[in-house]
Amino acid sequence: MATLRFQALNELLSRAPKDVTLPSNKVTDYYGQSVFNEDTMRKYLSSDAFKAVKAASKKGGSIDRKEADGVASGMKTWAIENGATHYTHWFQPLTDGTAEKHDGFIDYGDDGSIIENFEGKLLAQQEPDASSFPNGGIRQTFEARGYTAWDTSSPAFIVGTTLCIPTVFISYTGEALDYKTPLLRSLAAIDEAATAVCQYFDKNVTKVHTNMGWEQEYFLIDEALYQARPDLALTGRTLMGHSSSKDQQLDDHYFGSIPERVAKFMIELEIEAHKLGMPIKTRHNEVAPSQFELAPIYEEANLGNDHNQVMMDLMKRVAGRHKFRVLFHEKPYAGINGSGKHNNWSLGTDTGVVLYAPGKNPKSNLQFLTFVINTLMAVYKNQDLLRASILTASNSHRLGANEAPPAIISAFLGTEVSAMLDKIVAEVPDHKMTPDEKTALKLGIGRIPEIILDNTDRNRTSPFAFTGNRFEFRAVGSASNAAVSTTMLSAAVADQLKEFKVEVDAIIETGVKKDEAIFQVLKKYIIACEPIRFNGDGYSDEWQVEAAKRGLTNITSVPESLATYLDAPAKKVLVDGGIMSEKELEARVEVDLEKFVYKIQIEARVLGDLAINHIVPTAVKYQTQLIQNVQGLKDLFSDDEYKTMAGSRLELIKEISEHTSAIKSMRKEMIDARKKCNKMDDGFDKAKAYDIEVRPYLDKIRYHIDKLELIVDDEIWPLPKYRELLFNC
Ligand code: ADP
Ligand code: MG
Repeated sequence: MATLRFQALNELLSRAPKDVTLPSNKVTDYYGQSVFNEDTMRKYLSSDAFKAVKAASKKGGSIDRKEADGVASGMKTWAIENGATHYTHWFQPLTDGTAEKHDGFIDYGDDGSIIENFEGKLLAQQEPDASSFPNGGIRQTFEARGYTAWDTSSPAFIVGTTLCIPTVFISYTGEALDYKTPLLRSLAAIDEAATAVCQYFDKNVTKVHTNMGWEQEYFLIDEALYQARPDLALTGRTLMGHSSSKDQQLDDHYFGSIPERVAKFMIELEIEAHKLGMPIKTRHNEVAPSQFELAPIYEEANLGNDHNQVMMDLMKRVAGRHKFRVLFHEKPYAGINGSGKHNNWSLGTDTGVVLYAPGKNPKSNLQFLTFVINTLMAVYKNQDLLRASILTASNSHRLGANEAPPAIISAFLGTEVSAMLDKIVAEVPDHKMTPDEKTALKLGIGRIPEIILDNTDRNRTSPFAFTGNRFEFRAVGSASNAAVSTTMLSAAVADQLKEFKVEVDAIIETGVKKDEAIFQVLKKYIIACEPIRFNGDGYSDEWQVEAAKRGLTNITSVPESLATYLDAPAKKVLVDGGIMSEKELEARVEVDLEKFVYKIQIEARVLGDLAINHIVPTAVKYQTQLIQNVQGLKDLFSDDEYKTMAGSRLELIKEISEHTSAIKSMRKEMIDARKKCNKMDDGFDKAKAYDIEVRPYLDKIRYHIDKLELIVDDEIWPLPKYRELLFNC
């Protein structure tokens, strides 16, 4: 019987693109049709119920039980009209995905007959038995209940036949058990802090919201090939595979024409996404073969992040219809580019100003510089926190490894803004400013080009780059929930803005004018956070040396990076800032450490199994053939002739033995190392031990497998090879 590999390759030959029809050429004809958005609410809700939802969403929270019945009834009517039979509280537990438990609208009526029912209490709050979600020890089994509560700032939507209600997920004792709750808290914190700072410049500002524009990178692979690679299926990445002779050297994939089968997948995906009210705009081929990207127009951060989560789920489902699998892992294939999720982050006011875009006059530019400089300062002070928010087992293959932004956090500003910062340092005097000095400075600031968006120089190697009207946190991993990086960044900037306000106010109290006080503090900050500014090549070895000289931290170990969550600077931002309680923070670190251990443990097991039951037997089979061949030669030919003929084969036979013995002994050592680590109680020690004692075996064993792949007869090699995995779309 043909191996799965050859069955898969055969299946591939018969693949045809799936037909997809656009509902209409005008996206506006169907955009948002599966969302209970404002327009729909106006139609289906009484004006009181509508007002109640709007008020709740503005203040950020769930709806009052009193109004909930009216809202639920309108929502149910709309949902049933649009094909829903079930509803679910949709939430984001501390796993790699989202959670949903579907309940039917089906119920008994008062007279015992079957009816469709959906009451306010089912909409507003639920108590799922959620004892199987990670909680870092927050919940004992006796209080295992958690509850979910509607997040009214994110509208309900229908997927398939289920009405999904975005919710927060909280323990019975009130602690956050999800990614959304801290995100919402951080967005509230930055709203408060940034609004107060905006007041220096414009009294009309009453609210500052955070924007998020994510760019999701991913790989596609044919389903049959995926199924033939247990490592991909179980760990999301290939644990073995010799590099393909050709991969991305010729740069012929990036922005290349999109393969038809993939284009059809993308079109269907966009149709579904647009129906769900996600403003998807961009699609293109990425650098590595079979790698692609998708991006929406930016949205308010909480909604934007919900959409990213819904999208990742949608991508998997739509891919299935096209016989693809989506790989979100940051590094599914060794040796070629991995995937990120660039997190474009900015702040905007309720007066319509994007605070990271230069304005039209000195005043608005001073506001712009205030936000840019405070952000730099926040990044400088919270390098460790920001790193901890993105460094996971899978993303560690990018950060600080052989590709992508290093584990050193730095910020890129581009020449225009850098020059302006240097100007402030040079021109703000230590004495009280003379009117002439003030005028000169303001004139200079007024000269920042209003639109630097399209002509900011780009730096692809920077983990955190200013791109004209926003910062782009580029080091975020493709598989991650971007709520975490957004939470930490927003919380850090909120903390910094609060401090800024205190400092400026203190100077104003001494009789200095507002603008001058702001200039003084900004100058101090620019000097202080100088080390974080880096416009050069972040991938270079020189930068590692230079960054160390500057005193920037460079932590590549995941457990050590996670431990910095519990250091004083992070606690100041998170605990003092009201984003997480001490208990929540500790629980989260524990969950992340545990996740790290499990990921490595699973990879180690999968590799060990495949090595022993796929690779070694195949190598031995081939070796046996060689031995028989050599024996045949010996029987047929004279000693001298035999020696010349069999020499290289004998070498090969030995080589195979060397590799298989190495694999077998290292596998045993790896199992012993795991056993030792598993006995450890402390979460940090265990994670660290897994990192140091187990993880290296993954590469060491792989080395021998990949060597065998090169020598063993292709016809019996059981696993699809890189050249097959990478070029199948
Ligand atoms: P690239 O960075 O590859 O040039 P785009 O210019 O298309 O890509 O932008 C990437 C993402 O950044 C998009 O989601 C876009 O909407 C978003 N974006 C643009 N401006 C802002 C902003 N002020 N705040 C947040 N995100 C933004
Ligand atoms: Mg970008």
